[in-house]
Amino acid sequence: MIITSNLATGKIIVMSAPSGAGKSSILKRVINGKNKSDISSLVSYTTRKPRSGEIDGQNYFFITKNVFKKMIDNKMFAEWAMVHNNYYGTSKKLLHDTLNSTQKVILEIDVQGAIQIKHLYPETCMIFIMTPNLKSLYNRLILRQQDSIEIINERLENAKQELKFINYYDYLVINNHNKLNDAVKAVEIIIESLNYKITNNKLFFD
Ligand code: 5GP
Repeated sequence: MIITSNLATGKIIVMSAPSGAGKSSILKRVINGKNKSDISSLVSYTTRKPRSGEIDGQNYFFITKNVFKKMIDNKMFAEWAMVHNNYYGTSKKLLHDTLNSTQKVILEIDVQGAIQIKHLYPETCMIFIMTPNLKSLYNRLILRQQDSIEIINERLENAKQELKFINYYDYLVINNHNKLNDAVKAVEIIIESLNYKITNNKLFFD
């Protein structure tokens, strides 16, 4: 009997989180800790304006609403969604090219996009990141001094809505204040465990 790892399916990992839960910091650490040919993240398209320091093609592909809508019409997205009044989408071609060149792909996308990916690729590993509670999320949003109080309240309302979709996810990782390492470790263990899923391995009997 020969056992070979076949990661043709189960190669996509979705990470979603309410704004401020620390998803980007966790993802950065996970990606940097990995061999580049083993795992990579994908650059999304968005119609939102670049924040200071953000680079086109690196953080996002920053495009206009018109171009985005044309891409929707041409079915160029594996998923897309309107988040905080801006469009965001994952390029189908980029996703497939990356899947062909690396072992696993992490998509850092919102719950609406996550559900679309899960329908398209049912083997997707779905991870939700959250702070211990809404109060700690509020405190983090205040501490990072990025948004006005109105925006913070809006983000908290969004978080409540996003949490309603938690049952679409396979894993919940709590990002506790000052314990980023624990959350990073948890995500790494989840990703590592995918190598051992029965559906990702083929058994050949001779
Ligand atoms: P931000 O503008 O703060 O970078 O991202 C806002 C939200 O959009 C985050 O929840 C982020 O995960 C989500 N997002 C980023 N890229 C995509 C994407 O390609 N598709 C979807 N559906 N959401 C995305």
